[in-house]
Amino acid sequence: MANNIGMEVKIAPSRFRNPLSKYIIRRSPRCTKCGKCVEVCKFGVHQRSGVAFCRAQEHRCIGESCNACIEQCPEKALSLAVNPLTAVLGDYRWTSDLILSTWYQAETGKLPPVGLEYKVGNSGGGFDKLRFKFPKEKFNLKPEEISTCIPLNRKGDNAHQIEIGIPIYGGGMSFGSVSLSTMLGKAKTAKFWNTFTCTGEGGYPEVLNPYDNHVITQVATGLFGVREQTIQRVRIVEFKYAQGAKPGLGGHLLGDKNTPAVAAMREAVPGTSLFSPFPFHSVYSVEDHKKHVDWIKAINPAVLVSVKVSTPTDVDMVAIGSYYADAHIIHLDGSYGGTGAAPDIAKKNIAMPIEYAIPKVHRFLVAEGVRDKVTLMASGGIRTAHDVAKAIALGADGVIIGTAELVALECVRCANCESGRGCVRGIATTDPELSVMFDAEWAAQRISNLLTSWRNQLVEILQHLGMKSITELVGKTDCLYHIDYEEK
Ligand code: SF4
Ligand code: SF4
Repeated sequence: MANNIGMEVKIAPSRFRNPLSKYIIRRSPRCTKCGKCVEVCKFGVHQRSGVAFCRAQEHRCIGESCNACIEQCPEKALSLAVNPLTAVLGDYRWTSDLILSTWYQAETGKLPPVGLEYKVGNSGGGFDKLRFKFPKEKFNLKPEEISTCIPLNRKGDNAHQIEIGIPIYGGGMSFGSVSLSTMLGKAKTAKFWNTFTCTGEGGYPEVLNPYDNHVITQVATGLFGVREQTIQRVRIVEFKYAQGAKPGLGGHLLGDKNTPAVAAMREAVPGTSLFSPFPFHSVYSVEDHKKHVDWIKAINPAVLVSVKVSTPTDVDMVAIGSYYADAHIIHLDGSYGGTGAAPDIAKKNIAMPIEYAIPKVHRFLVAEGVRDKVTLMASGGIRTAHDVAKAIALGADGVIIGTAELVALECVRCANCESGRGCVRGIATTDPELSVMFDAEWAAQRISNLLTSWRNQLVEILQHLGMKSITELVGKTDCLYHIDYEEK
């Protein structure tokens, strides 16, 4: 497959007049409007409209490492400071730098020039402590020689043979938890990148019909909106047995978000809170699990079946069980994913972090001699292109993202997704007023720009490792080191 996939990068600016930025610039009354700052800033921060100055585009400023305008202003009228709001933006995993650098990539399709960390957060563990160990040898690989495609059906059966263009697809976020513009933006991106997005547990809105080939129907315990037709129209069906962000808890959609449109899709009463049970009470053994898979295959014989599980300590046994139940894809969902709707007590304390679960399952499947017959996808805390590459080096074939897509749409990680009418930024809401704050075209461009930047970073990592395909990186833990225990 050709690597020229994805959507052409076009600048997709912030929706807000004054986007949050790492730096703020103040212009004092001493300014004589001479225009020197416009001339010297290489990043287009200062712009004028006639004789007046526009508000500085502070989100483009790279800070103290430049200081050109500050130093060259003849009146010393400009001052620069770190925006105090960055102290309250994000958390240890999604730091303010990661949020701002994701926004920058979503706007431009490029890496932030300098001054913003875009590879790791500050959690003190996991991906944040792992780094790539690049060989000293220089490999003469051109970017166009490197493939980021991965196959999804390794069983060699008669089901669809599917190859996706990047080792990434979009995770399940239901209609109800997120807006139609968010869902549609994700689906458009999936089509452009020849990959997938997932409905989540809330039915299959009609606007997704043109994207059937790139949508995964999710079947979860509440069976909300699951119909034969929605299983027949897709190439992949996912069973959600558990969610890493809240194992032991089903999905929950509070009454305020259950609008008439959502209720119609879910065949429920508007305004009531909807809870999915945990677990599937029809599955207590591998044999029960196989009956589930067979049920889906009876409805759609060519479909690939994915099984989403959380990461308990015996996750390796769960994975091998899914393989013998005839699943094509095992989707491991670690503890750090989930939108603001997942309770913190569950997110941080129950399932195993994905960094531990991936190698545990990968090695077990290798030892059982079946690793090359099943696709292992990982989710739950994949924030950056470097997280993608590290997850693959630990043993996954690819990753599934959710929060990173929302951050691309200017999510501020405020964790108010489930309260009241939902997200005030129009992302995780079904409120008729809030959910039209942006359109699906803008959403698709932002997510696609982010994926362009991520793919470029993956290609660069493979170039340094001398690998022609992302599939060569799977399970290569020797390419990684832990900064606390091993020198580079
Ligand atoms: S410090 Fe540099 S990047 Fe920032 S506004 Fe001034 S000239 Fe532009
Ligand atoms: S900005 Fe919206 S999507 Fe993001 S955490 Fe807040 S409520 Fe949720």
